[in-house]
Amino acid sequence: MLSKEQIQSIRQDFPYLSKEWDRDIVYLDSAATTQKPRQVLEAVEGYYKFENANPHRGAHYLGQKATEVYEDGRQVVADFIGAKANEVVFTNNTTQSINTLAYVLGLNTLKEGDEIVITILEHHSNLIPWQFVAEKTKAKLKYIYIDKETKALKEEDLENQITEKTKILAMTQSSNTTGTLVDVKKMIKKAREKSKDIKTIIDGAQYIPHHKLNVKDLDCDFYAFSGHKMLAPMGIGVLYGKEEALNNLPPFFYGGEMIEYVYEDRATFLKAPMRFEAGTQNVGGVKGLTEAIKYLDSIGMEEIAAYEESLTQYAYDKVKDLDFLDLYTTREDKKGSVITFNLKEIHPHDVASILDTYGLAIRSGHHCTQPLHRYLGLNASCRASFAFYNTQEEVDRFIAHLDDVRRMMGLGSK
Ligand code: PLP
Repeated sequence: MLSKEQIQSIRQDFPYLSKEWDRDIVYLDSAATTQKPRQVLEAVEGYYKFENANPHRGAHYLGQKATEVYEDGRQVVADFIGAKANEVVFTNNTTQSINTLAYVLGLNTLKEGDEIVITILEHHSNLIPWQFVAEKTKAKLKYIYIDKETKALKEEDLENQITEKTKILAMTQSSNTTGTLVDVKKMIKKAREKSKDIKTIIDGAQYIPHHKLNVKDLDCDFYAFSGHKMLAPMGIGVLYGKEEALNNLPPFFYGGEMIEYVYEDRATFLKAPMRFEAGTQNVGGVKGLTEAIKYLDSIGMEEIAAYEESLTQYAYDKVKDLDFLDLYTTREDKKGSVITFNLKEIHPHDVASILDTYGLAIRSGHHCTQPLHRYLGLNASCRASFAFYNTQEEVDRFIAHLDDVRRMMGLGSK
C-alpha cells in the first residue's frame, strides 16, 4: 500500500496541495473534479507551445505532430481500459458520451413497447437523456431501486425489471452520492440472458478514477467517462464502444473530418471512432488525459484503490458513531471513495459554508441525483469525497471541524 512518504511526495506534484500555494485547503471534492498534477499541466502547456496544429489535416510537420499526439493518446486510453484504439471515441465528458448514445442509439432504435432500464443511483447525465429518449420514442423507462439500508441494488429488482423487452440497460458502476459499487459485470450477464438484443451502457465517471478497469472483462457494449475526474483537464472525455456496436450506429454530429466522400446531395462516413469526432478536436485535452493516465499508471491503479479504500474506511469509522450525523453511505460492502451525510436539522449549504471558513472544501446540494435524494427522503446532502492525494491528517481535520459546526449550530452530541 502507498506509504505516508509516497503520498507526501505525490502531493508535491499538485500545485494546489503543495506548499507552492499559501492557502491551506483540505480538498474533499474530488468526485466533482480532481486536482491536476504539474505533469499534466506541463504536458498541456508543452502541447500548445510546441506541437499545436489541427490534427488529421496538415501535411506539415506540426500537423503530423498534433495527429501523433491525438492518436497516441487514443492508444494510451485504449490500453488503460483494455480496449482497441478504434473503440475509443473522444468526447467532451461523460455527459456528451451518454447523450451521443441517447441520440444515435436510443432515438434510432427504440420504439413503443421497448424498455430502457436504469438505476435510481444515476447521475442526471445518465438519467435525463433516457427520459428524453423514452418521451420521444414512447419506450418505457424503468428503474432498479436500492435497499435504503445497505444502499445496494435490490435483488428482486435485478430479477424483475429487466425483461425480453429491455433494449437498453444504462447504469453507473459507482454512485457519486451513496458510493455504492455496482457489480455491472454480473448485471450485464444477467441482462443478456433475459434480452438477447439488449445494449449495455456503463457510466464509469466515478469508477475509473479509483479502480483498475477492463471493458472486455465487463463485456459492456459502451462505457463513458470524463477526464477531469481523473487528473486531466476539463473538456475531454471518452466514449468506449465495442467496434461492431459503434460501427452499427449512425454519426451524431456531422461536419469536417468524419466523412469519406461528400457530394452535393449526400455523403459517406468514416468508421468509428472518426465518424463520431466531427470538427476540430480537443488535442490539448487528449495530451492532458494521456499524461494523467501515465501518472495514474506510474502509481498503479491497484495501489490507488487500496489506499483510497483504507482512507475512506478510516473516515467512515470516525463518522459512523457521531450521533449528530445522518449517514447515507454504508461500508458493509466495498464502496466508492465518498461519504455522504447531513448534520441533523442543518442545511447542507450551511455545513459546507462553515467548513469552508476552516479551509475545508466539501460538496453540498443534490449532487445531480435528485431522484435518488427524493427516494431517500432528502432534499440535499453533504459529500466528502477522497482521492489518493488526501491524507489521514486531512480526515482528522474534517472530523474536528464537523464538531465545530455542531457546536456553532447548537447541536447536542454524545
Ligand atoms: N456520472 C457520474 C456518476 C458523475 O458523478 C458525474 C459527475 O459528477 C457525471 C456522470 C457527469 O460527468 P461530467 O459532468 O463530467 O459529464
